[in-house]
Amino acid sequence: MGPPGAGKGTQSERIAETYGIEHVTTGDALRANKEMDISHLDGEHDTPGAYMDAGDLVPDAVVDEIVERALDSADGFVLDGYPRNPDQAVALEGMTDLDVVLVLEVSRETLINRLTGRRLDPETGESYHVEFDMPDDEAVRDRLVQREDDSREAVENRLDVFERETAPVIDRYRDHEGYVEVDGERPPDEVWAAIDSAVASKVEGS
Ligand code: ADP
Ligand code: ADP
Repeated sequence: MGPPGAGKGTQSERIAETYGIEHVTTGDALRANKEMDISHLDGEHDTPGAYMDAGDLVPDAVVDEIVERALDSADGFVLDGYPRNPDQAVALEGMTDLDVVLVLEVSRETLINRLTGRRLDPETGESYHVEFDMPDDEAVRDRLVQREDDSREAVENRLDVFERETAPVIDRYRDHEGYVEVDGERPPDEVWAAIDSAVASKVEGS
């Protein structure tokens, strides 16, 4: 868990590879279904994409179902981007128990730099950064795109949504036996080293 830009995607990818488990990410699943018709929910918008581009949360009914299906077919998983509000946390409790709850801590100023500089490779889904992490291959560099919701305006809103809706979920997990906070401000390999040892000790200890 952690705010937008904390490094959840970058680090959970490594957790999935290292531990041989599924990477279940609601953000990627929703981006693959941006145009899905959800008008029957009578929400503010008729598609997931409209909520995402504004930086608002997609309705719980949509994300809860994505996660329930993904967890049903996974033999071990790292969940990235869910739960993001207290009701989703209650829904998750009904689906599974967690071994580890990992929280990445990063300052707002760093988050804004990371998100507005983030670029994606549309072919592989890999994320890069204009300043900190550009691909060596020129062909890949040339095809990088910016996410619609990584504009300055959507970023500010996403950070506010995090403070309002997701920070209280993190508070709920503070007493969980698998709760760990990691300083996410450092370079990716250092963050990874801290995560790897924290996860290993929690999993061995359980
Ligand atoms: P999240 O999934 O939490 O939104 P990402 O993993 O997509 O975050 O990272 C956001 C951006 O910051 C990406 O451009 C990524 O390359 C970059 N990034 C991730 N971790 C770090 C880090 N430790 N230091 C510098 N940049 C990072
Ligand atoms: P980031 O962590 O960088 O904001 P994600 O890819 O995890 O990026 O999420 C992008 C967008 O997808 C969010 O701003 C939100 O609109 C939607 N989304 C992702 N996960 C959830 C969730 N659990 N509940 C509601 N909306 C979600």
